[in-house]
Amino acid sequence: MRDMTEPGFRENVDIMFRRAVEYLDLPPGLADKIQICNSTYTVRFGVRLRGKIETFVGYRAVHSEHMEPVKGGIRYAPEVHQNEVEALAALMTYKCALVETPFGGSKGGLCIDPRKYEEHELEQITRRFAYELAKRDLIHPAQNVPAPDMGTGEREMAWIADQYARMNTTDINARACVTGKPLNSGGIKGRVEATGRGVQYALQEFFRHPDDMAKAGLTGSLAGKRIIVQGLGNVGYHAAKFLREEDDARIIGIIERDGAILNEDGLDPDDVREWIGQHGGVKGYPGAEFTANGAVMLEHDCDILIPAALEGVINRENADRIHAPLIIEAANGPITAGADDILREKGVVIIPDLYANAGGVTVSYFEWVKNLSHIRFGRMQRRNEEAHAKSLVRELERLSEDRGLGWELSRDFKEKYLQGADELQLVRSGLDDTMRTAYQAISEEWHRRNDVRDLRTAAFIVSITKVADSYRAKGL
Ligand code: GLU
Repeated sequence: MRDMTEPGFRENVDIMFRRAVEYLDLPPGLADKIQICNSTYTVRFGVRLRGKIETFVGYRAVHSEHMEPVKGGIRYAPEVHQNEVEALAALMTYKCALVETPFGGSKGGLCIDPRKYEEHELEQITRRFAYELAKRDLIHPAQNVPAPDMGTGEREMAWIADQYARMNTTDINARACVTGKPLNSGGIKGRVEATGRGVQYALQEFFRHPDDMAKAGLTGSLAGKRIIVQGLGNVGYHAAKFLREEDDARIIGIIERDGAILNEDGLDPDDVREWIGQHGGVKGYPGAEFTANGAVMLEHDCDILIPAALEGVINRENADRIHAPLIIEAANGPITAGADDILREKGVVIIPDLYANAGGVTVSYFEWVKNLSHIRFGRMQRRNEEAHAKSLVRELERLSEDRGLGWELSRDFKEKYLQGADELQLVRSGLDDTMRTAYQAISEEWHRRNDVRDLRTAAFIVSITKVADSYRAKGL
């Protein structure tokens, strides 16, 4: 049983934030200003469905506006509440600062079980929610830019984009009001896979740091490493798929809603996903051992544990029984602050959420820039391809300077662009570059100070320093 005296999600994020602040010499009051969630808007609206009016409750929390627009996904889940969206919004602030996407932090949520509704009903509900938020500039290309999160995806983002565009017919930048859109509504290639891809790149970078690996008692490469994944949703599925197909890691366990499956020889995430689609869960998946109590699989022996579902799944109650020497937080907040203490004492290395799952917002940033610049990324079709590509790179750089986007095109990105790489390659290389650079900054901080004992604190130190710098530069 989960220890109900454990602090809630938002308090957990605050505890982790405070632990890092101890190492920093911030002006009086600034840490409090950064930590606090600026505002949370609650909306209750009715939608006529199946002959009666149903009332929904939704939130949009704005954590920090040290940079605008603020950014963060919209979650659809029955248990969404204010404390949760505020915690998630805070994590967005720290995440964006860490990977240098020039956004403040925000997050939204709607209390709904999307599986209970037909597509046309979900469209009606989403459009109404979008209308309520857009009316208050809580969806706006320059002020607040949502994205997918648990329970939402491209489809919902397309409805939101269209709703905003209808309400703002003269806004030429309307498409930049939301990211994670389908390609034909102004999306970018590689956004759907981005968070899982980012988890893969984060692990690849970790495995390029032998000193860090040694702290987890790991040697060698990702090849053959035994991995357990919790949640085969968008993030967990892509992470597991890429790690298996491209790094030769072995996915020995998968935890889903209805239980967990284990096969020491390795599971194929595509195959398992198909099975879930047909049977509603992992139970009965051929050739694997099934346990109805999925949480127990978190404690099973493996090299890398990837919680990619909900917050708080590793807590004070089960932390001591976790066997994995390395945990990468693909989900937001899967480890409580209490569990974090226990795991740190045990010497478990944790690659923290604010870094590990930043791939989503990184590619959202590319999409937003693409929408604002009105320039198509990718292969040039002109006769004088190279000259044209060069002028576009110059144009992008000029735009990013003019608009203060703070976006420096990476060298790899520029080279690929000039060579006429297609959009997907550009996105992947930009993402890889971002994940590598951010990890190096965190790892450096970890080793620079003898008393910083974990990657999470190091990541928070790097991130808070950046947020503090931008407050110092622009004032409050
Ligand atoms: N919902 C994702 C996250 O938690 C993506 C946010 C975004 O792309 O703005 O990071």
